Amino acid sequence: MYYPEPISKLIDSFMKLPGIGPKTAVRLAFFVLDMEDDDVVDFAKALVRAKRELNYCEICGHITDQKICHICQDPNRDETVICVVEDSRDVIAMEKMREYNGKYHVLHGSISPVDGLGPEDINIASLIKRLKDSNVEEIILATNPNVEGEATAMYISRLVKPSGIKTTRIAHGLPVGGDLEYADEVTLAKSLEGRREL
Ligand SMILES: [Zn+2]
Repeated sequence: MYYPEPISKLIDSFMKLPGIGPKTAVRLAFFVLDMEDDDVVDFAKALVRAKRELNYCEICGHITDQKICHICQDPNRDETVICVVEDSRDVIAMEKMREYNGKYHVLHGSISPVDGLGPEDINIASLIKRLKDSNVEEIILATNPNVEGEATAMYISRLVKPSGIKTTRIAHGLPVGGDLEYADEVTLAKSLEGRREL
């Protein structure tokens, strides 16, 4: 009630973003008022474009502005390996690493009974469908190293087992430059579990 309607609307919009409280929302709204007209228009257009033009790849579920994403379309990628991740951001993190040349499958979440999310609420059915009549040999379960991520990996692994396709889980462990002494028990246990022969 202290602000003219257009700016209070802008403040409300900023407050819908994660991690933005009332104070930050006010600061951002006033910052926008000081921006150049063109920059504000570009900003607004970018928001609308991102929302309108992006959708999920029909094969893997990764964000794309086409029907099929560039990774699924790429003939040079290894079709025999699928890396299953929770989020498109995980695909981008893997791609930045430049070590992986297989395909992906994005779940858009994880199984979380506490939040009422079951296997049917995430993108698992399309993975199973995708495996039928495919030449996939290995599925790398790269869900997050938390209770939900582990449960999701377990679930998919059991589901895939009858098909004879190998399922592997990424090793979780100590951060590079870390110190054994300061690692928490779960991290230490996971790093022991994921040990390999030298
Ligand atoms: Zn795709």
